[in-house]
Amino acid sequence: MQYYAVLGNPIAHSLSPTIHQAFAKSVGITLSYEKIEVPIGKFAETIQKFRDAGGNGANVTLPFKQEAFNLCNKVSPAAQIAKAVNTIGWEGESLWGENTDGEGLLNDLVRNKNIQLAQKRVLILGAGGAAQGILAPLLAEQPESIMIVNRDITKAERLAEQDSRIIAFDYASMPTQHEPIDIVINATSASLQNTVPSLQPHWVEHTIAIDLAYLKQGDTIFMQWAKEQGAKEVFDGMGMLVEQAAISFRKWHGMLPDTKHVIDLLRSR
Ligand code: NDP
Repeated sequence: MQYYAVLGNPIAHSLSPTIHQAFAKSVGITLSYEKIEVPIGKFAETIQKFRDAGGNGANVTLPFKQEAFNLCNKVSPAAQIAKAVNTIGWEGESLWGENTDGEGLLNDLVRNKNIQLAQKRVLILGAGGAAQGILAPLLAEQPESIMIVNRDITKAERLAEQDSRIIAFDYASMPTQHEPIDIVINATSASLQNTVPSLQPHWVEHTIAIDLAYLKQGDTIFMQWAKEQGAKEVFDGMGMLVEQAAISFRKWHGMLPDTKHVIDLLRSR
């Protein structure tokens, strides 16, 4: 039996055990996958205990992705750019770290939803860990431009330093006249607080709007708002969640599981 876990705080809501068990069943692997609520300040200690108890690998979620990055001896290029790790494994004493969020979002957009990013104008709301994680894979798709809007403009400006196609704003400094936006990605945690970022409605009209947050059932508050403002297609982050998990699964088990039946499973619960 192999042992995996997702570490975070809070963690009770996590769907990762359901997703990884469904992947394992589909490829004929037996594994245990638990949720571990980590006390703040105890991440390194908790990982060590899990390893000592025979754990094979772990996913990491809020608020420990940066701490996980700092703890790893070796990280992938995606994790290096994001400065955050959501998948950990070990070889002997050495800890390796990967960040699968960006590739997960890309797989969901391009493969599952047939959304192309080349030559598109993209607007990202938020400049936290998720925005940081998705930026490099999005840029690799060759969008025409990426605008990042954040309440704290200094964080958006830091991300904009990566590439000349990125422009940073706060909500107050966004221009009223602008070229039409194709894709809006809500990478803020506003939906988790049941609020919508204070974005002028015309920014989402006629766009494809994606909220990285998701609910077990129904539309997030941002999705509802985007539909009301005339977005032409609206999606949540459930597909990204399953796709990023599939890439973690591949890192640990060497095979990429089918994701569609797991997305369907989660939607039908
Ligand atoms: P962080 O805490 O790192 O960043 C939060 C961001 O949200 C910051 O930019 C913050 O702005 C902004 N923000 C928070 N509240 C508001 C508000 N009321 N109005 C406007 N902006 C706000 O979180 P993450 O980046 O890790 O996560 C962001 C979202 O992405 C969450 O909803 C999370 O669930 C989702 N996510 C989904 C994944 C998936 O697989 N589907 C994977 C990873 C994340 P400021 O800096 O100004 O405070």
